[in-house]
Amino acid sequence: MSMDIWLSNMEKQEWEWQKFRESQSQLGGCESTSEFEHIRNWNELAHWTYIFNQLKSKRQDVCDYPLDSITLRTEKHNGIEFLVVHNPNRKGRPNAVVELGGHKAAECNLCGELNRGYNSKDNMLFNGEEFSDYLVCPNLWPIYRGHVVIINKNPKKDKIHPWDLEEMMRLYREHGYLVWHNKEGSALTIPHEHFQGILLRLFINYLSLKQMDSKSSTIENYPGVNFVFTGQDANKHASDAISRLDENKIYNEIICTDKIYVVPVKKYQGKGGYGGFEFALGYVELGDNEKVTGELIFNGLKNALFQHKEFDYRWAFGK
Ligand SMILES: [Zn+2]
Repeated sequence: MSMDIWLSNMEKQEWEWQKFRESQSQLGGCESTSEFEHIRNWNELAHWTYIFNQLKSKRQDVCDYPLDSITLRTEKHNGIEFLVVHNPNRKGRPNAVVELGGHKAAECNLCGELNRGYNSKDNMLFNGEEFSDYLVCPNLWPIYRGHVVIINKNPKKDKIHPWDLEEMMRLYREHGYLVWHNKEGSALTIPHEHFQGILLRLFINYLSLKQMDSKSSTIENYPGVNFVFTGQDANKHASDAISRLDENKIYNEIICTDKIYVVPVKKYQGKGGYGGFEFALGYVELGDNEKVTGELIFNGLKNALFQHKEFDYRWAFGK
């Protein structure tokens, strides 16, 4: 790509960003202030907004709700500040109503995005090779602005390797995306290997950790058993724990930032259940915003997750 084209794209993104900030400031009051506080990386958001708007102008399968209609607020409970996204239109998204079954390429939206990535090349945020096995595309029915789906190029892949986790940590380090991975039993919607990411600041990354042993830590006031892997071999140690949980048929959730969080799930979470975004201490509210409270979210998570005396640590760490 020549420098001229790159500059003109940057100018367009700058313009989108400026327009977005103006539209937010017109909303006025505390809500827009708190939205500003929760965006992690404005430049990446401008880039996302530019690509998303381009896709929306060309395609019929992009959400029909205006992104300005989605609002954020915080709810504090048990010392944890939850970020609640009010997005009542998202429940009509196409994948929410399709039965979960085996992967069928012809019916799979993510295979459709891969094909588009190879052919039109207009649906990805970065060069298609930048994240090796993955293509990073805007989620067409986003939780909030800056929501991406990170699609594995091999639809038959079913195991998380250390290098996958390293790539997700790099997506956080280089672009600011907090990334999560849903599986069968932890709110999976599409049976094609993928992660999701968002540019919001979620509180999981700011809660204090207690060291458990040389390989892992835990967040003490998190609503259930959790393992946090940090440092140079975080991806290897996390991948070992995930493999063991999978072998022991314990559902689990993975969240990646500059750390890797692994959360075993006690009660099967189907579509619409608690998934990675909720486990990262955000929450998507799809109905009447009067009903959701920090206490309700906390108790829902506590109910879905293992408490310490219910969990045998050999399920994750062997002997
Ligand atoms: Zn697929």
